[in-house]
Amino acid sequence: MQGYIIKVSKARDEDVIVTILAQNNLYTLYRFYGARHSQINLGFKIDFEVESSAKVSMSRLRKVMHLSMPCLLDRSRLFVWQQFTGLFYKHLQDTEELDSFYFQLLEDASNIWKTQSPKRIAIEAYVKLLKFEGRLHTSMNCFFCEEDIHQDLTLIRAFLPAHAQCIFAIPLNIDAVKELFDTGSSLFLEDKEIERIWHILLEGF
Ligand SMILES: [Zn+2]
Repeated sequence: MQGYIIKVSKARDEDVIVTILAQNNLYTLYRFYGARHSQINLGFKIDFEVESSAKVSMSRLRKVMHLSMPCLLDRSRLFVWQQFTGLFYKHLQDTEELDSFYFQLLEDASNIWKTQSPKRIAIEAYVKLLKFEGRLHTSMNCFFCEEDIHQDLTLIRAFLPAHAQCIFAIPLNIDAVKELFDTGSSLFLEDKEIERIWHILLEGF
């Protein structure tokens, strides 16, 4: 089976608890001597087996093989990738069965992570996720005062639109945000806007 490691937490001694996002499931598994195995890193894609036992409540992670991901060779790209994959854990941690949409989203993002701007890829992927979950607010009215937004737009968590002046934020280009929401492309957003939107994304899905 294949999946992405979206959370690694310490258990006893050198053991770790690993959460893996696979095609149709979210697995939380116990890994003995996890600290000695370099493959157990946040964001990495692995091939693995699950070993269940009637004696223990948590299944074991076994036969881990690290799958090649070229984007992970570049430290700064790796860091953004790890931040991005960590967001999936916070969003999905209480689920077990998953739609294959989430795995595919990570597959698609990782395939282009090495060659394109990682933060743009992450933002565009997140818009896809919001659309998939029926949570993308394409109508431009303010989350706080509920009035229409004609010009000074900003976004808050979950990319909800708001008046920039309602939360004392620097405005984003409204046409570029509309383009992002309508077509999924971040092309018309400037790099400094991407940086601000990335920080909104880091607040959580
Ligand atoms: Zn407002």
